[in-house]
Formats: sequence, structure tokens, C-alpha cells
Amino acid sequence: MVSSSPSIVWFRRDLRTADHPALLAAAGRSPRALGLFVLDDRLLKPSGQPRIEFLHRCLHALNDQLGGRLMVVHGDPVKTVPRIAQEIGAGSVHVSADYGPYGRRRDEAVEEALGDVELVRSGSPYAVAPGRVLKGDGTPFKVFTPFRNAWLDHGWRAPADTGASTVDWLEPPHSTAIPKTTEKLPDAMRLWEEFRDERLPDYDKTRDRPDLDATSRLSAFLRWGVLHPRTLLRDCDGTYRSELAWREFYADVLWHKPETARQNLDRKFDRMVHDDDRELFEAWKQGRTGYPIVDAGMRQLLAEGFMHNRVRMIVASFLVKDLHLPWWWGARHFMEHLVDGDLASNQHNWQWVAGCGTDAAPFFRIFNPITQAKKFDPDGAYVRRYAPDSADLTPIVDHAVERQVALDRYQAIKS
Ligand code: FAD
Repeated sequence: MVSSSPSIVWFRRDLRTADHPALLAAAGRSPRALGLFVLDDRLLKPSGQPRIEFLHRCLHALNDQLGGRLMVVHGDPVKTVPRIAQEIGAGSVHVSADYGPYGRRRDEAVEEALGDVELVRSGSPYAVAPGRVLKGDGTPFKVFTPFRNAWLDHGWRAPADTGASTVDWLEPPHSTAIPKTTEKLPDAMRLWEEFRDERLPDYDKTRDRPDLDATSRLSAFLRWGVLHPRTLLRDCDGTYRSELAWREFYADVLWHKPETARQNLDRKFDRMVHDDDRELFEAWKQGRTGYPIVDAGMRQLLAEGFMHNRVRMIVASFLVKDLHLPWWWGARHFMEHLVDGDLASNQHNWQWVAGCGTDAAPFFRIFNPITQAKKFDPDGAYVRRYAPDSADLTPIVDHAVERQVALDRYQAIKS
């Protein structure tokens, strides 16, 4: 039923107007809507500057799509969203559903505080909403490959037919200026099309090579919902679809077990003995371990807020199995610096490497940073780009020795 009261479209991880089911739902209620984004300290605090800068770029781009009418406020959404709804006499507030542990709690609290104003959830940041794909017996999948197969069989909706002019955007009653950024957000659709046409055909063969520009680099755009995965899935198949399925799988795992953001999924790893050497941790963070591929990765992270997937696996394995430090120390550092930092993908990839997660890579399969570098950076171009001096550093640990220590500790918790 069309209402004379305007709606609010509260943007969070869906910073776009194309293919936006919540926007479509808002238009179904009212031809007029206020576009709102809340800068929430709970989410800003664990984010380093590169992720915040990227968010600001996304907000500028969204604001442009809304004809300069995006309302940005700083505060606790539980207080600010109901207050703004009251201020403009909104009939409903529309969101893309959030499936993360904090987002779910926040939305329930906002829903309650809104009282008679309905909070309407439509769509999600995923092709298939977490929790939807289940095994035949109604329980969640614990292993990736059967999940992916069931997810493919389930399929997803066609992109929603929306754009910036789906509603008339209201002039905000007031707004905080979006901080200036050094660069504009590139056109995400163009980046996808370039990747699809030029690099996707070889992706299968080249995606593990950090020295080549072979992957899509779209993770941050997916993280903020500048692009919806459905848009990409329409144009691809095979391995790239599988990679997107990992993102969906980990969101599903976290939805079923929100405590695994902090806890080992496999509780036997609670008995694993860790070290707590802060100096070794610092050397890892700064990219000064004396293992060139590890140092190159850690320095790429500090310089660009990004690291190639293969190198993420190598540096994570090094932290857990060569330095014997807890995976969540590394995960926290990644969350601070990664522009694509995403709780579900980050914590569960870390748990995968540490052997305590879903599909756990067997703990005893320990990455050797020297042979990994030879195989995936054969000419040393990646190391030369990010850590040309690393080979001159004295390695902070001896891989062969620490490998054995890790195996002995694993042996002790195995049964
Ligand atoms: P592409 O190779 O082009 O892949 C396409 C998309 O598929 C990615 O953008 C991403 O959305 C998804 N994807 C690919 N691999 C994975 C994977 N293993 N798990 C989940 N999704 C995947 N990815 C994040 O988006 N955020 C994180 O915080 C994050 N933390 C990670 C931590 C560790 C220890 C490891 C090993 C991996 C992590 N990843 C994370 C997954 C992966 O490294 C990145 O998604 C990928 O490197 C992003 O580059 P791309 O967009 O060029 O990837």
C-alpha cells in the first residue's frame, strides 16, 4: 500500500542504488525516501584508516547517485535511526538484512526502538541469504564442497530492477559532511567488466600468482556492497563462482555459530599451547621476519590495505605454525588493515589456516615459506616489489625447527 509518509533507506553494507531490493521495497511503500548512512563507532573503531578512507569514497559515490542528498550522521543507530524517523515522519525504514553477530543485535534493538515504524529487511549482501542452504536433514553444512553444490542447486534471484531514480530522494534535514578523500571511487562495474573480459579466462591458472595482476581485486567493493555478488555471478562460472561461494559459505557458518568470530570452531584446539612473544609478533606485523614472501605480504598489507590470497595463507600459516601465536592476534591485525576486512571471511579463513575451522586444512600440512615463494612467485617479482631488502635480514626463526614444534603441540591435542 502506498503511503503519504516518506520511507527511509538506511544504507549499511549495500552502498549502491543498482540491484537493490530494499530500495525497491521502499519505493513500494512511498515514492519519497530519505537516504541515510550512520557512522557507527562500533564499526569504525576496529577499522584502520585505509578501510575508513574506502568507506568515505563509497559514501561520496553513493551521495552522487542520490543527487547530493545522502544524509550522513554520526552516532549510535539505536538512537539516531528512530530519531530521524520521527523527525521526518517516516512510515517505514528499509534495510538489506545484516547477518553478522553485531549487525543482527543492532537491527533487533533498532527495530524495537522504532516502535510503530516498521523496519523492513529485503535482500542481503549475499546471493543466497545465510541460513537458507541446509543439508537434507535440515542441519547446516560443515564442509565447503557439498555446501557449494547445494548453493549452486538452490540458485539466486535475478538482479532487482532499481536505479537512483527509483524514488524521489528527500533533502536531508541536516547532515555531517563526508570527509574529503584523496581519490574518487573507481567505477566498480567497469572494473568487473575489464576483469571479466581480460583476466577471467585465465583466472583458473593464474589466480595463485601474487606476482601477476590476475585476480579481480573486487573484495572491498563486495564488502561494502558497491557491487552485489549476483551481478558477478550472472557473468561467470567455474572457479570464480567457487571463490564467491567461499564468501557465502563463511557467512553461513558465522550465522549459525556467531561465537566462532572469537572461538575455535573445533573446540579441541582450545587446548593448543600458544606462545606470546610480542617481539616476534611485531616483526611479523612490520614485515621483518627475514622470510621474503612473508615480509612482502605483510608490507603489502600496510602499504595498500590488501594482500593477495595465496600470500594471506602463507603469512597466516607462518604466524600460527612458525611463531606459535594465536590465530586471533593475526586476525585482529588483518581486520585493522584490510580494506576488504570482513568478519566472516577473515575469521574463518584464519581458522582454516590454523586447522581449527571448517574444512580445516589439516594442521600438519604446514606451508613452507621458501618453497611457496618459489612456486608462486617464481621470478621473485612480488618480493622485489614489496620487500627487496628482506633477503638480507636474519630469519627470526628456523622454519624446520618450528615446524616440528608445531607438529608436537598438535600431537598433544589430537585425540
Ligand atoms: P578474487 O580471487 O578475484 O576472488 C573473487 C571474490 O571471491 C573475492 O573478492 C572474495 O569476495 C571472494 N573470495 C575469494 N577467496 C575467498 C576466500 N578464501 N574466502 C572468502 N571469500 C573469498 N576476504 C575478504 O573479503 N575479507 C577478509 O577479511 C578476508 N580475510 C582473509 C584472511 C585470510 C587469512 C585469508 C587466507 C583469506 C582472507 N580473505 C578475505 C579471502 C581472500 O584472500 C580475499 O577475498 C581475496 O584475496 C580478495 O582478492 P580478490 O577480490 O582479487 O579475489
